[in-house]
Amino acid sequence: VTIGHKLKETVKQFPQREALSVPYQNYSVNYKQFWQQIEEVAKGILSYGIKKGDRVGIWSANRYEWVLVQFATARIGAIMVNINPAYRAAELKYALKQSEVKLLIMSKGFRKTDYMAILNEVRAACIRLRDILVIDKHWQTMLEAGKKISTQELEEIEHDLQFDDPINIQYTSGTTGFPKGATLTHHNILNNGYFIGRRLGYNENDKVCIPVPLYHCFGMVLANMACITHGACMVLTGEAFDAEVVMQTVQDQKCTSLYGVPLMFIAQLNHPRFPEFDFSSLRTGIMAGASCPESTMKDVREKMNMKQVGICYGMTETSPVSTQTFVDDDDYRRCTTVGRVHPHIEIKIIDPDTGKIVPRGSKGELCTRGYSVMLKYWNNPEATASVIDEGGWMHTGDLAQMDEHGYVKIVGRIKDLIIRGGENISPFEIEEFLLNHPAVKDIQVIGVPDFKYGEEVMAWVILKNGMQVKQEELKKYCQGQIATFKIPKHWKFVAEFPTTVTGKVRKVEMREISAREIS
Ligand code: ATP
Ligand code: MG
Repeated sequence: VTIGHKLKETVKQFPQREALSVPYQNYSVNYKQFWQQIEEVAKGILSYGIKKGDRVGIWSANRYEWVLVQFATARIGAIMVNINPAYRAAELKYALKQSEVKLLIMSKGFRKTDYMAILNEVRAACIRLRDILVIDKHWQTMLEAGKKISTQELEEIEHDLQFDDPINIQYTSGTTGFPKGATLTHHNILNNGYFIGRRLGYNENDKVCIPVPLYHCFGMVLANMACITHGACMVLTGEAFDAEVVMQTVQDQKCTSLYGVPLMFIAQLNHPRFPEFDFSSLRTGIMAGASCPESTMKDVREKMNMKQVGICYGMTETSPVSTQTFVDDDDYRRCTTVGRVHPHIEIKIIDPDTGKIVPRGSKGELCTRGYSVMLKYWNNPEATASVIDEGGWMHTGDLAQMDEHGYVKIVGRIKDLIIRGGENISPFEIEEFLLNHPAVKDIQVIGVPDFKYGEEVMAWVILKNGMQVKQEELKKYCQGQIATFKIPKHWKFVAEFPTTVTGKVRKVEMREISAREIS
């Protein structure tokens, strides 16, 4: 089925249940109203001459219009192109040109940035870009224009849609390089959302608090798709993440589920006003996107009442989730693994050199196959062929282990592997070891160019508040505990690491900075 079909079923089942609540825009609709508004927006977009398969960009931080555009484009078979609100001229130009966006729906800006000024810089270069719809300015006009399109016309278009039509292009986070446009179908994201919600035990009584960005699959699939397939309510908290607002929203809206990357949960737990908020409505949620420290997991479960919090592993190219914990998994599993594979998805862990499956418990590259694997990278057959093999397996580039019960642990990325004089070193092990040092708050280990060994080990360290320690001491701490060749040769003490908008540490950038500094 298509997204429109499935949503229609939910609307029929729960017309009066709240579908979307956006307190900062004074907006709340039930499923029946939600459906009607999506229809109006779908007609509005059609009035721009958008046809099935045309690309419609959305460049805006979280707001209710974003959600309407997501479902409106799906209902008419247009391909929505998610554009990161943090993009600036070069990145915007890349995305608009690469996917040949015809209509760009955008807000007037984000924080202090003026989107129109940025767009004007690149517009001439984007020859396929025909129309601009500034939400804050043209929304009503767009809805008016849509009124001349009949419901019958819309239904005829819907009738021609196929479950495996592409409806979404999402550029990957760019943690490891230039973003690639993962192209996803109805089938991909609708099913993924359904199985994510099912594993969390969602139903029409759930209210999901969404502080994560919608342009990323964490927001648009783990949250929005999981909600609409179970009749749950989506709750947005703001254009940008603010720990206090999130806590207030959970309390006021009596949310049952809360999402976030580990950094977002840490920000709430460490907030001076944390003890004042009531988390008793919470039951579950998802922490994903990056690995989660054990202590954070414990605090989230005990202090935020999220006893059934789930961990997921996934990537944009796989819609995104492949593995997830169960609500009744024990603490050990929840803290140390990313759970087990979803229904109707296969995973295997292989030796990347030979392609053979490694023995259980050994490290290797995680590969996955099933309905969740993207159609392709947009306009990039070479990149597509380099990750999806003839057997349909997506090679993720992630290093993982699987235990005898099928629980998976992510231990790094193949590209992050440091190769020092022919010896493969996993940064993960060194990071885990040094995190035990009482002065170390956080650490990232990378490979940097070295004349003699090809690569050398380098550590970037964030010290705990008020702590001081010299690199010699840290080196000494490692001696006798980890192999000498793994002990970082270079050290850098910093206040924070460079991260992507989704809170992921950008090792590429750290490697570039360090390579420059060392040479
Ligand atoms: P790019 O592909 O552009 O370099 P990216 O891979 O970071 O960026 P995403 O698709 O947003 O883009 O992120 C997917 C990656 O995030 C996975 O391949 C994996 O490395 C990491 N990841 C996801 N979930 C987890 C998790 N639970 N624990 C550890 N790492 C995770
Ligand atoms: Mg990736």
